[in-house]
Amino acid sequence: MRTLIVLFALLASPKAFAQVPAYWQQRVDFRMVAQLDDQRHRVQGHAQIKYVNNAPDSLAFIWFHCWPNAYKDGKTAFAKQLTNERGGKARLRAMRGKGWIDSLSFLVDGIPAGMEAHPLWNDVVKLNLPKPLHSGDSILIETPFVVQLPTYGSRSGHDGRSYMICQWYPKPAVYDRKGWHPMPYLDRGEFYNDYGSYDVRITLPGSYVVAATGVLQTNDERARYTALGDRNRAVEKLDARYRNDSAQKTLHFVADNVTDFAWFADKDFIIEHDTLARAGAEAVDVFAFHHPTSDEPWQRSCSYIKDALRFYSASLGPYAYPVAQAVEGPRNDMSGGMEYPMITLVTMPGAPDSTLDVVISHEVGHNWFPMMVGSNERNFAWMDEGFNTWYEHMYSAEKYRSFGGANNYGIPDYARNRGADQLRALMYRVLKTLDASRTPINTPSADFRSDEDYGSVEYDKAALWLYALEKEVGKEPLLKAMRRYFEEWKFRHPYPEDFRASLEAALGRDLSAFFARLEAKGPL
Ligand SMILES: [Zn+2]
Repeated sequence: MRTLIVLFALLASPKAFAQVPAYWQQRVDFRMVAQLDDQRHRVQGHAQIKYVNNAPDSLAFIWFHCWPNAYKDGKTAFAKQLTNERGGKARLRAMRGKGWIDSLSFLVDGIPAGMEAHPLWNDVVKLNLPKPLHSGDSILIETPFVVQLPTYGSRSGHDGRSYMICQWYPKPAVYDRKGWHPMPYLDRGEFYNDYGSYDVRITLPGSYVVAATGVLQTNDERARYTALGDRNRAVEKLDARYRNDSAQKTLHFVADNVTDFAWFADKDFIIEHDTLARAGAEAVDVFAFHHPTSDEPWQRSCSYIKDALRFYSASLGPYAYPVAQAVEGPRNDMSGGMEYPMITLVTMPGAPDSTLDVVISHEVGHNWFPMMVGSNERNFAWMDEGFNTWYEHMYSAEKYRSFGGANNYGIPDYARNRGADQLRALMYRVLKTLDASRTPINTPSADFRSDEDYGSVEYDKAALWLYALEKEVGKEPLLKAMRRYFEEWKFRHPYPEDFRASLEAALGRDLSAFFARLEAKGPL
């Protein structure tokens, strides 16, 4: 995520002879159908989930996230978090249409299975399995579901008949080497999800354009999006056949090696399309979907996505997915971006080219952290936001000799133009003087008391922490070590100690003092 409000223990040393359990992770494959009712702003769905238990132990239950319930009333963890924020009550009030999920009725391998409420959170349920799921076995979990979409105010919902459909289906929490990780939806605090494949069929009135995680398999619609996107940027409308709301259409998307599936539907999306060639693989299909009222820089959004894909691929390792997309969000007072696999929602009203570019590229960069390297964002936001901010600073310094246009940390023009790395050095010097938070970098998102503190610690201070390491070991060795970490942990779930072990192996040195700083209260 990138909000522009602020533009700007755990690491036990390996004990001798300690038993390190072998790495494993669960696999969760989804096959879903979803029908959008744009009169009532509802999604009626059915999910089939193949859950593979790769853990060494048997499971008697599976925690499920039912996150649309976060928007149900004032008592949810999400609502309580917002209520304690400056301006949060007003944001909650503005979400006039509430959201929820119901009609769940689980079958496990065809046998009805009961649910239990979570003691604290209304958007988490425990699915009791009819019989234990043994190590190495898999089950097929099925359930219908109905989602009422809330008025858009926190990541998922609708703005009139423009749809941002995120965190919308029942989904197993992660069970990993450290146990279960059930968590409620929060505004400040992101996600932790297992890897798998998605096969999703979305039915909706014929005139909608749909942008989603994955590759659109519906060939005539895909050809149409590509052709419209390739046309000379005029405001194109879909032809009459696709303007017909009385006819429903079904669009089929597939995605593999992803942790989530988000989709966005609007009748007025303008489509931009381009491709990015890559060695040894098919070209990446690049799409942007924006509104007819969008600012002029959106016309160049595909080039920003392409530059970001080139930059992150060269810096970290190849982009693993067949498509990369950005969607313009509703024009409201929330600005920033929110990332999902292969797709990001970006709202930047009035932003100049460089700012839109840097926000889009930051969100595209999240395909590396946390989409391809699946760390627990809720507990260790620095492992995606901090890393990604360090790369974002490199991208913007190299491309613009600036940090996104809106905020150049007061660095004068003559100093900005000396060179990207000199500029970064100056910028981090300024960041260090601004680093006043007493909150340690290694703090779970839910423990922060404000977005400002969260932003300055998990983004800026964490990037500053990596920059301190860069100064100590050199930029090239650190970039190389990060490439190795990416390769080692791609499509897996690293913890901070795994990151440390990977870096120590790559750099050939003990980093205990450096990692201790993650726990330090006060400035770095
Ligand atoms: Zn981010």
